[in-house]
Amino acid sequence: MTSLNEAWFDRAQKVLPGGVDSPVRSFRSVGGTPYTVVRGAGAYVEDVDGTRYLDFVQSYGASLLGHAHPAVVSALCEAVGQGTTFGAPTPGEVVLAEVMTTRVPGLEQVRLVSSGTEALMSAVRLARGVTGRDKIVKFDGCYHGHSDALLVAGGSGVAQMGLPGSAGVTAGAVSDTIVAPYNEVPALDESVAAVLVEPVAANMNLVAPNAGFLRGLRAECSRVGALLIFDEVITGFRVAFAGAEEFFGVRPDMWCFGKVIGGGLPVGAFGGTSEMMASLAPLGPVYQAGTLSGNPLATAAGTTVLNMVTPGDYEELSQRVATFAANLEAAVASSGLVGRCPTQGPLMGLFLSREPFEAPKNFGEAKVLCENGLYRAFFHAMLERGVALAPGAYEILFVSLAHSADDLAATVHKAAEAAEVAARS
Ligand SMILES: *Cc1c(COP(=O)(O)O)cnc(C)c1O
Repeated sequence: MTSLNEAWFDRAQKVLPGGVDSPVRSFRSVGGTPYTVVRGAGAYVEDVDGTRYLDFVQSYGASLLGHAHPAVVSALCEAVGQGTTFGAPTPGEVVLAEVMTTRVPGLEQVRLVSSGTEALMSAVRLARGVTGRDKIVKFDGCYHGHSDALLVAGGSGVAQMGLPGSAGVTAGAVSDTIVAPYNEVPALDESVAAVLVEPVAANMNLVAPNAGFLRGLRAECSRVGALLIFDEVITGFRVAFAGAEEFFGVRPDMWCFGKVIGGGLPVGAFGGTSEMMASLAPLGPVYQAGTLSGNPLATAAGTTVLNMVTPGDYEELSQRVATFAANLEAAVASSGLVGRCPTQGPLMGLFLSREPFEAPKNFGEAKVLCENGLYRAFFHAMLERGVALAPGAYEILFVSLAHSADDLAATVHKAAEAAEVAARS
């Protein structure tokens, strides 16, 4: 008997390449048929066959409160009745920008866009416009969206597909992009406009920054007049109340956001000081625009999420995740495999191996673990037990505020069984 998941995926494959609109959803690296989701509530999603899963994908981090949070739903319902987009300024975009700039010290202005990709692409243009320099530095295994100049040595789906970059990106488009190993401060010179970094690398599974890495980047950028750009599309308003700056005590020159700030709707943002942002059109010579930018639905959802959370929520979530990580490692160990769940606040990775290992410090080390084949079996064993992890070993687990201690305890129990399955694979 074909399941409705299979039927929908067959239909999808006829009209959507690979049956998906984003490659990370495709199950290509773990095998099998993706579940097609019809609804989500809190920590759970339900597929077209009526199967419920405890969801650790959470739209790859876009959902901080869990799915369909009543406050977000009601803010959206209220907003939608008033019209969805106007091509004129709206109060909602002002309010979201006020919340963000009030919360993040040093962030004075933002430009709202519609995705993380757009935020990074525009931030790079602004950095080049402001500095008058061409080169940018990124780190191996960090993902900064799919714009041409940044689509080299990317994590996430790029790593999952085993690609160094992408076909269709010209040598010219990446010739000013320098790739350096994560956790090593590169020596810069005056040709560098900007250094882009994920303050916590969360697209090569989870790789934490060494003590001194971000501080070292700050000092090296300041030394040569390059701009330090924190790609906070994952860490922003998730790793801590005010994001990576609060968590690590390092202030970048520019910030990029996405995911959490849209409350599940398409939003991104990039920002910096008012002086720097004055180089953007209409005030300055760096052009950047968007028909749906600052969309009233997206800003309503995002503002609601940011206003719901308190610093205490982040402490509590970090605590819950710390316990979860320790218990999950113990559960995996009971199977004879070795599991490591590095955490940074509420962010958590999961590496599996048959041998003891140190937590990876760069993409090379992460890759060896992500490619050892164990995740595939573990992933499917968890899915069969009603726990949805991301269908790729390079992704992290997103624990939302809707995941209860009981949800996490049940997951640990299932992980012990799934690890046994993986150990026999
Ligand atoms: C998801 C992600 C992006 C891209 O955001 P999109 O909204 O998918 O375009 C950029 N940077 C990081 C760190 C991300 O995790």
